[in-house]
Amino acid sequence: MENNNHSQQYTGIVIHKEQLSPKVFSFDISLKDPPAFQFIPGQFVSVDVGNNKRRSYSIASSSYRVDGIKLIVDIAPGGSGSQYFSQLEVNQELSLKGPMGKFHLASETGNIVFLAAGTGIAPFRSMIDYLIEKQISENDHEVRSIYLYISFRFQEDIFWKEYFELLECSTQNFHFLLTLSQPTVSWNGCQGYVQACMDRQLLKDTNSHFYICGGNSMVEGVRKFLREESVSEDHIHFEPF
Ligand SMILES: Cc1cc2nc3c(=O)[nH]c(=O)nc-3n(C[C@H](O)[C@H](O)[C@H](O)COP(=O)(O)OP(=O)(O)OC[C@H]3O[C@@H](n4cnc5c(N)ncnc54)[C@H](O)[C@@H]3O)c2cc1C
Repeated sequence: MENNNHSQQYTGIVIHKEQLSPKVFSFDISLKDPPAFQFIPGQFVSVDVGNNKRRSYSIASSSYRVDGIKLIVDIAPGGSGSQYFSQLEVNQELSLKGPMGKFHLASETGNIVFLAAGTGIAPFRSMIDYLIEKQISENDHEVRSIYLYISFRFQEDIFWKEYFELLECSTQNFHFLLTLSQPTVSWNGCQGYVQACMDRQLLKDTNSHFYICGGNSMVEGVRKFLREESVSEDHIHFEPF
């Protein structure tokens, strides 16, 4: 899966750390050496998390930004990567290698359907911000429809809801829907796994490309669902965490 041909060693510095939910943090990293980073939206970096261990994290920022990247990290697994990022603070340096991976937009035309669970949103935030910046900068009116479906387990796990709601209001071709797999009775939004409230027309439209990202079992579950709905294999793209 990895395309390391152009990957390089970088030193970055944390310029902003934010807690997005009880277990998820975002990190804005400014690149020090070398100072610029070229990548394709959807790619990831490999971070040196100490004790000779590395962990992979998808880049969550648009490739229009070259002087730094955004990462989002779920510290719930509790291993070396989680511990490293729990303790990483503003002004601290980190060492990373990248860009890596071949998970990126596969077609120039047709509907784009993103299906994410939790921090699986990271590569899609990069792709969405890139696509929208591109259509604005190129004054492109022949835009494709972009659908983002994201699922979280509990209400307190939700993050970036307002960001995508605002984007939906300001961007005609962007559509956003959030589901909770384990909501409380007070939740009046969509319930179930990420595909639960998907517009079924998208499945019938042979111009749709589906992109899936999240934990292994989520990715496998959505792939199975799409196959059962007769979506062609070459229109299903995925990145398991
Ligand atoms: C291409 C790629 C991109 C990735 N991008 C991101 C990203 O943007 N943000 C992010 O938070 N993570 C991302 N990951 C996952 C990340 O690389 C680490 O696996 C994760 O941070 C756990 O590392 P750890 O050292 O804390 O736990 P580990 O020591 O690796 O694992 C500790 C325990 O938790 C389990 N576990 C590991 N990962 C998960 C998980 N995702 N959910 C539930 N249980 C788990 C393991 O099976 C193990 O039992 C990505 C993985 C890949 C392959």
